[in-house]
Amino acid sequence: MRIAIVPGSFDPITKGHVDIIERTGKLFDKVIAVVLVNPTKKPTFTTEERVDMIKRVTGHIPNLEVDSYSGLLADYARMKGAQTLVKGLRAVSDFEYEFQQALTNKILNPDLETMFMMTNQKYMYLSSTIVRQIAAFDGDISEFVLPEIKDDILERI
Ligand code: ADP
Repeated sequence: MRIAIVPGSFDPITKGHVDIIERTGKLFDKVIAVVLVNPTKKPTFTTEERVDMIKRVTGHIPNLEVDSYSGLLADYARMKGAQTLVKGLRAVSDFEYEFQQALTNKILNPDLETMFMMTNQKYMYLSSTIVRQIAAFDGDISEFVLPEIKDDILERI
C-alpha cells in the first residue's frame, strides 16, 4: 500500500492545507495528516484542538487518517510504513527550509522520499500565520478557512 504523510503545524488548518491533503489523497492509497508537536513553538491551538479541526474539515476524504506526533518525522514514517512525505510549496520562500528538511530526512531515513506539491494559485499567499493575524483584528477569515472551524478560530484569537 502506498502511504503518504502530510506533516505540519496546522495552527490552524487553512484551505491551502486542505487542498494539498485532498490532492495527495487522489495520488496515494492512504494519506496521513499529522500534527507535529514542535517543542520550540508556542502554538495557538493545542495538539488535540488542531487534530480535531483537521478532522472536522476533511470528513469528505475517505482515505485520510489524522494523527499527531512528537518526535522525528523520519521515525514516524518508518513506524507508519509510509514511503513518502508530501510538502506543499508556496513561494520561493518555502524552498530553502524545505530543501534542508528533505535532505536531512533522507539521511535519517533513506527509504523515505520527500515530494513537493505545487500550491493552488488561489492559496499561494495563504498561511496559518496570516489567518491568525487577520483574526486578531476581527477580520473576515472566511476566504481562508473552512466554515466548520471559523468560529473556533475567532473565539480563540
Ligand atoms: P504554515 O506555514 O501555514 O504555518 P504548516 O507549518 O502547517 O503551515 O505547513 C505544513 C505544510 O503545508 C508545509 O509543507 C507548507 O508549505 C504547506 N502549506 C501551508 N500552507 C499552504 C498553502 N497555502 N499552499 C500550499 N502548501 C501550503
